[in-house]
Amino acid sequence: MSLHSLRGFRDLLPPDSALFTSIEAAAREVFALYGYQELRVPTIELKELFVKATGDTTDIVEKEMYAFTDGGGREVAVRPEGTPGVVRAYIENNLGQTGRNGKYFYIGNMFRAERPQAGRYREFEQIGAEQIGNASPYADAETITMLVRLLEKAGVSGCSVVLNSLGCGECRKAYRETLLNYLRLNTATLCEPCKGRIERNPMRALDCKIDGPVLAEKAPRLSLCPACAGHFSRTQELLNISGVEYQVNTSLVRGLDYYTSTVFEVRSSALGSQDAVCGGGRYDDLVKSMGGPAAAAIGWAVGVDRMAMLLKDKPAAENAPKTFIVAAAKEAGTKAFALLTAMRAAGISSDFSNFELSLKSQMRSADKSGAAFALIIGEDELKAGTVAVKLLKEKGEQLSVAIADAPSEISKRLSA
Ligand code: AMP
Repeated sequence: MSLHSLRGFRDLLPPDSALFTSIEAAAREVFALYGYQELRVPTIELKELFVKATGDTTDIVEKEMYAFTDGGGREVAVRPEGTPGVVRAYIENNLGQTGRNGKYFYIGNMFRAERPQAGRYREFEQIGAEQIGNASPYADAETITMLVRLLEKAGVSGCSVVLNSLGCGECRKAYRETLLNYLRLNTATLCEPCKGRIERNPMRALDCKIDGPVLAEKAPRLSLCPACAGHFSRTQELLNISGVEYQVNTSLVRGLDYYTSTVFEVRSSALGSQDAVCGGGRYDDLVKSMGGPAAAAIGWAVGVDRMAMLLKDKPAAENAPKTFIVAAAKEAGTKAFALLTAMRAAGISSDFSNFELSLKSQMRSADKSGAAFALIIGEDELKAGTVAVKLLKEKGEQLSVAIADAPSEISKRLSA
């Protein structure tokens, strides 16, 4: 049997891997600008954490979790999303007591046993932000602005922000009955899983991949209480002030149980059927319901795989070495290796193939590497204590420099 990767899991090869690194670097820059600090949480947690936080009527918990009983007989799960772990860490480590701003970001892989297709994998990367302890619309507008700036910084364009409010518990209590009556009258149009869960969570039907699109158009709309309506319109005013474009879509419902008030998605039509780049919203009741203090919160998670798909046609980051070292004589290997070390110590990226191979073979590798210069040490150079510098990408004279001067000489030429 030949060993191969599992369906829905994939290798990230260069240069795509560099695309992921550049997205992460852009995110880190933006997070620093907005006062967010990194929180690294475990990949495996108690299964109960996700059942409680993500919700037992969600697709993620009902059928997509990689859950198993570990050697100690504990029911555990590989994280399908980041928010539950962050909230658990916030409560367990009393982060609300630190007097800090409650802003955290994470970068990490998530795991869901979904049906694989383009843009949908079983292991995928999310970059997420959570702000815990700020109930005001300023937090909503700030986090959505930050998300848009992050996409811009990473080079992703052509996305649209869709916004809605799911109101508070009170708004939803009234709506629950109205919606449930509507769904009961329309059970014939519901898929089997929805038939079984509308009594427990009627709003899930609106977000169902099968029924959702049709129901969302026709179902009665939620009406917001004055406080929630005020919060939502203030959020929009503040987004206008920060210059973020968005569309309000009253049929937007997010698939996880914990969302309240403002919810949003970022979409890109360039992605085809899996068009969501990012999803997020407020989860004002989650921290308390998980046993923590009453702390309103808002967050989002952006899919790095989908961002990378949107960046695929852009020129990849230049990661070719600056110099390529070649030993043109067997005895030159030691000096060539020392030169390689010196170049790298001087901060000049340098590579080589194998000093025991022929000059022709090493020069072929030098050309393929994309390096700007080949630094060649042959018999003559060994005797003279020099190195031959050859321009690889364009024609030019080959010059000779003292081996000790090579790092500074190359530095000068690279910055010229
Ligand atoms: P969610 O946690 O479901 O709100 O997803 C947030 C974002 O993560 C989505 O907008 C996608 O960009 C990304 N995402 C979610 N599931 C997958 C998946 N199976 N494969 C790739 N990206 C995903």
